Order: sequence, then structure tokens, then C-alpha cells
Amino acid sequence: MSTSTLTSLPTRQQFASDNLAGICPEALQSILDANGSGHQPAYGDDAWTARSTDMLRDLFQTDCDVYYVFNGTAANSLALASLCQSYHSVICAPMAHIETDECGGPEFFSNGSKLLVAEGDDEASRLGKLTPDAVEYMVNRRSDIHYPKPKVVSITQSTEVGTVYSVEEVRAIAAIAKRRHLKLHMDGARFANAVASLDVHPSEITWRAGVDVLCFGGTKNGLPVGEAVVFFDRDLSVDFAWRVKQAGQLASKMRFISAPWVGMLEHDTWLRNARHANAMAQRLHAAIHHLPGVRVLYPTQANAVFAQLPAAVITRLHAAGWKFYEFIAGGGCRLMCAWDTLPETVDAFASDLANACAVAA
Ligand SMILES: *Cc1c(COP(=O)(O)O)cnc(C)c1O
Repeated sequence: MSTSTLTSLPTRQQFASDNLAGICPEALQSILDANGSGHQPAYGDDAWTARSTDMLRDLFQTDCDVYYVFNGTAANSLALASLCQSYHSVICAPMAHIETDECGGPEFFSNGSKLLVAEGDDEASRLGKLTPDAVEYMVNRRSDIHYPKPKVVSITQSTEVGTVYSVEEVRAIAAIAKRRHLKLHMDGARFANAVASLDVHPSEITWRAGVDVLCFGGTKNGLPVGEAVVFFDRDLSVDFAWRVKQAGQLASKMRFISAPWVGMLEHDTWLRNARHANAMAQRLHAAIHHLPGVRVLYPTQANAVFAQLPAAVITRLHAAGWKFYEFIAGGGCRLMCAWDTLPETVDAFASDLANACAVAA
């Protein structure tokens, strides 16, 4: 029985998700370095965790409080739980990952804080974004004792449909949040892609714009595992370490979560990875948006292209071995690019798609 079957045949690249990709070389090297550093204190008292945390403080140019957890669901759930009492509520967009894809994690970890889905009817809402008007509406709709009191606004940057809030849009939401005494949480599972897309300093769309806590995603940008919960308002992180431990999210060999962050932050690898993934999405968009039967659903601003495709075309692509999700978020096929997506993969997919469209037309 050969043991090489798992490694001898690398499978082809796909567009199903950016978490299909492996670990980027810089992060992997840091893991090897951390492994070579002998015995190190556990539970985050090691040199690697101190270093990555300092690097995040340098990156954001502020003395923020940083915690590492295993995944984005835990990051969001625990961050929100730390901002809410059980009788509070969190205002979010209908497509928000915390609402649609976290199995009730935020409600569970907050002992019942309710998510309030704010549907706007303007263009920004159609693009998967929360708007100041929608937040204002949710706050004003009810203020009686029978309704969970709004306490937090949560936005996703970049959004679940591959769009990006501008600096002005984040500021506008933060302004209404502040006026209404709400905290602002940012689900940054793809924060790097947003920073790369806007070409701004990361502080400009976080604390300088009014964000209180950021869940900074590492996994989809090239880490094996691990997200950083970054509290810009340090008063909000009181006892957060205990919350992380109780939730089973405290890695005892923490250095293997934090060391890859060092590799990612050094020489701006995180930004280079995100720029590459975004560029591949642009390449894909350029190659397919004009094809007959293809309708791109959202502006391609980060690392995803959402497109409506004829059913026969989808069948052909699947038959050709391509994997991607349908009916994600607002509908359509989601084509996700990763830090390592090759131009050749984009071109091969676009070519198969063009052929399938020609046959179907
Ligand atoms: C992937 C993702 C997360 C985190 O998901 P996990 O699978 O729990 O790591 C959070 N928010 C958004 C918008 C995501 O796309």
C-alpha cells in the first residue's frame, strides 16, 4: 500500500473558495522556524506571539489588543459576544456571514444576543453592504422593553459578494453607530483583499474610520489556520482571554498560530497575496463578462466574481471537472480566486466557459 497517493498528484486549482488553497511559502517558513525554536512557553506566552502582536500594532499604527483564534466563526462570535449582553442585538446585512453561515455561533456565544437583519433598498444594499439608513431604520424601529436593544453594527469587509466598502462608506456607518451608541464590528475574513482593493492604509478603514474591533482573516489569505481578533478599543477586550479559553479557542501551542502571521506580515506578504488574488479575479472578469449568457452580478472589487450562468453551461463546467458554488449569497455562481491562483487556471476556466457558452447559445 503506497503512502504517496495523497501527495503524488496535486489536484487542479479550483474557484470554489479561497480556502481551498494551501499555505503560502512565507507562512510555512515561519512555521518551520517556530518549530526549530526549541521549547517555547505555551498558551501565547512565546516569542512568536509577542512578535506577531507587535507587528499587528505596527501595521495598524495603534496600541491595539490582539488575540488569535482558530477560525472566523469563532473570531466573529467571540468578538460580538464581548460587545453584547444577552439582551442586546447586532445589526447586520442580510448576506452577512454571521447571519447566514455561522450556525448561530454569535447568538450562542453571547447567550442569546439577536442578530437584526437590516434590509436596505438602495444600490449599496443590493451590493451586499449595510447602509447608514438601514442602520438608522433598525435603531428607530423599536426602542421598547420588549425588543432586544441594538448594541453593535457589524459589517463585512470585503463583503460576501466581493464588493468593498469605501473609506467614506465605513466612516458614514461608524458615524451613525457612534451617534446611536453602537459599537462597530468588522468581519474581515477578507480584510486583506479590501485593503488591496482600496489601496489605503489598513488604519484608514478600521480605527481611524471608527471600527472598534476587527476580525482579521488569515486563513483565506494564505495561513493554514488562524484569525486575529484586533480590539482597537481596548476597554472592550476586558476578560476576552477567558472567553477565548472557555470557547475552546485557546491554542496551547500558540506559536504555530502566531508564527505564520509573522511570515505574512513581514515584507507585506499579506498584501501581496491579496493583490494577486484580486488581480486574478479581474483577469477572470475581463475574460468572461462579455460571453453570451453570462451576467456578472456584482462589481468585481475583491477576489470574487459572481456570475449568472445558463444551467446547461454550469452542467458542462461541472462535467469538465470545475468546482464552484451556485446560489451563494444573492444567487449566481461564485468564482473565488486565492493567493496562489495561476493566470493559467483563470485562462483555462475562461476558455472552457466560453466553449460551453458557444455550445449553449
Ligand atoms: C470564510 C468567512 C468567515 C470565516 O469562516 P470560518 O469557516 O469560520 O473560518 C467569516 N466571514 C466571512 C465573510 C467569510 O467569508
